[in-house]
Amino acid sequence: MKAKRMSDLQLAGKRVLIREDLNVPIRDGQVTDDTRVRAAAASIRQAMDAGARVLVMSHLGRPKEGEYDPDASMAPVARRLGEILGCEVPVARDWIDGVDVPEGGVVLCENVRFQPGETRDDEDLSRRMAAICDVFVMDAFGTAHRAQASTHGVARFAPEACAGPLLTAELEALSKALDEPSRPMIAIVGGSKVSGKVQVLEALTHKVDQLIVGGGIANTFIAAAGYSVGKSLYEADFVETARRLMDEARAKGGEIPIPEDVVTARELAADAEARVHPVNAVPEDEMILDVGPQTRARYDGMLRNAGTVVWNGPVGVFEMAPFAEGTRALADAIGASAGFSIAGGGDTLAAVEQFGVTDRISYISTGGGAFLEFLEGRELPGVAALERHKAAES
Ligand code: ADP
Ligand code: MG
Repeated sequence: MKAKRMSDLQLAGKRVLIREDLNVPIRDGQVTDDTRVRAAAASIRQAMDAGARVLVMSHLGRPKEGEYDPDASMAPVARRLGEILGCEVPVARDWIDGVDVPEGGVVLCENVRFQPGETRDDEDLSRRMAAICDVFVMDAFGTAHRAQASTHGVARFAPEACAGPLLTAELEALSKALDEPSRPMIAIVGGSKVSGKVQVLEALTHKVDQLIVGGGIANTFIAAAGYSVGKSLYEADFVETARRLMDEARAKGGEIPIPEDVVTARELAADAEARVHPVNAVPEDEMILDVGPQTRARYDGMLRNAGTVVWNGPVGVFEMAPFAEGTRALADAIGASAGFSIAGGGDTLAAVEQFGVTDRISYISTGGGAFLEFLEGRELPGVAALERHKAAES
């Protein structure tokens, strides 16, 4: 990692402004899933223990920018954070001109999106954020793909800027998997649509030893291979892209295999009658909703000896029991693989959770959109700003 790490800096007595991702679900004034709060609390605790005067900022929901909105207030998050840290966490409503925090103490800034200019990375706002700290710590991987004042602009003007523990862990795991992978490297890209993941498929086709496609994405590849997909979700506009990617994989000595057998139904419903067909015999009035038993068995063989496994996207409609077995088998196979495995994506993580393999996957990436952009090989503005900060100094 080219950026400085928070753990390398002297923080005692310094005003340390940490950007976390505390965008959590809230109902009736209570945080209903505190995973992100717990993760951030460990970073915050580290800075407090080092004697820093800690200011934490995050966005929450999508309030109208530039206006205070009590429904998007950080107050419920501050309460939960305080319970976890075991101390009072005050919320500063007017923080942009600075807040007095005692050494070893913490204050949570009110929602960054209440500040006009946040989402357009306004320079003036970025400079004001930078002026209230001695050290800016970017720790929110899930927002690093957005160039906004609190994720990017502030790092340009802060006296010192570095990566926090969560961001550091995320970048190290991702680069271990993608920049210096143990071979063979296998990626699984599933989910609903090729259109949302063209760049990911493109980048991975050229990087991995084996790419496995699944879900609605596989349907488009099945169509590209010349088979009928019946009523399945697939994208006619991307059949050509799928064909080209299959050709490119073949040209470098590999292949993008399509499922050998599939689970189909007449309708997408939890009580629909599920049937198994070979991939070349999908009835015209049925849709492909999962991979079949032969394909599931193949996953196991392919993944067992992998050096690196990267997984994004379920291979079936795993939310419904009749179509969950493919994704379950994949989750189990990845969990059993001896290689370094990484999984990311909103629905993928729901599947990881549902099938109870969280502890058997080497690294769970928390940033949905940022994870996909990393897989695409794109530069993340929130990370680039930290790397450049260092360059400007040395
Ligand atoms: P992620 O959020 O992990 O990146 P996606 O959002 O791309 O994943 O895709 C997840 C969705 O894809 C799930 O809701 C799942 O039901 C759906 N899906 C998987 N396979 C199929 C299929 N064969 N037909 C239709 N939808 C599918
Ligand atoms: Mg999704």
